[in-house]
Amino acid sequence: MVVSKWDATVLTLFPQMFPGPLSASLAGKSLNQKIWTLKTLDIRDFASDKHRTVDDNPLGGGVGMVLRPDVVAAALTHVAEAPGPRIYLTPRGRVLDQKLVRDLAEQPGAVFLCGRYEGVDQRVIDSTDMMEISIGDYILSGGEPAAMIVIDAVVRLLPGVMGKENGHRDDSFEVGLLEHSQFTQPRIWQGIEAPSVLASGHHQKIAEWQLAEAKRETQTRRPDLWEQYLRAQQKRETDA
Ligand code: SAM
Repeated sequence: MVVSKWDATVLTLFPQMFPGPLSASLAGKSLNQKIWTLKTLDIRDFASDKHRTVDDNPLGGGVGMVLRPDVVAAALTHVAEAPGPRIYLTPRGRVLDQKLVRDLAEQPGAVFLCGRYEGVDQRVIDSTDMMEISIGDYILSGGEPAAMIVIDAVVRLLPGVMGKENGHRDDSFEVGLLEHSQFTQPRIWQGIEAPSVLASGHHQKIAEWQLAEAKRETQTRRPDLWEQYLRAQQKRETDA
């Protein structure tokens, strides 16, 4: 029997959206293998009136609706035993990166609160000390796709999910650089030859080429990451 390594609990107004894309490929296979588990709860089940109301007008006026703190708090209390940090997906949160993904994968699981409309009353976020995570500087219509992205990124790091245990070590961001370009067969395609060093069988030369390529690509495509990488290198040299 496989012991579940990571338990995802999702609070949403649209539980039917799950597992959605998480049922396919690596995430789906590992879900079937119970390497991770997924539990969804409908926030509407925690409304206290006969109309199952979950939202109300924003105090102070303005467009749209806001999820009520009492309803969200009741949903969070219901999953009090669920393991891991409580995470509210919001464009105002810390932007997801691979370091945060790695940290989350070290936890026994996570509880995800998916907002809708104009978001969630801030009091329930603050009083339950939730982490606030954004998946980027753009606005989705709801937190569900954001939760799926976080879950997908975490799940592929769980032991036993990737074919090769260390398959993700060279991935972009794992060493502070974008990954080198990838090539496969045929070696010559439409007259364009893949870099010959990759077919040399010379492991050290291949590794050197890949590192140089990763540096070049990072410098060109993501000057911000390249600056961070250089600063980290300098710090390592100073500390040594
Ligand atoms: N009025 C909010 C604002 O400007 O910050 C946006 C609300 S958005 C229409 C509805 C919900 O989608 C949010 O409560 C949040 O859960 C989710 N969401 C939208 N964009 C997101 C992002 N970039 N990252 C994470 N969640 C997001």
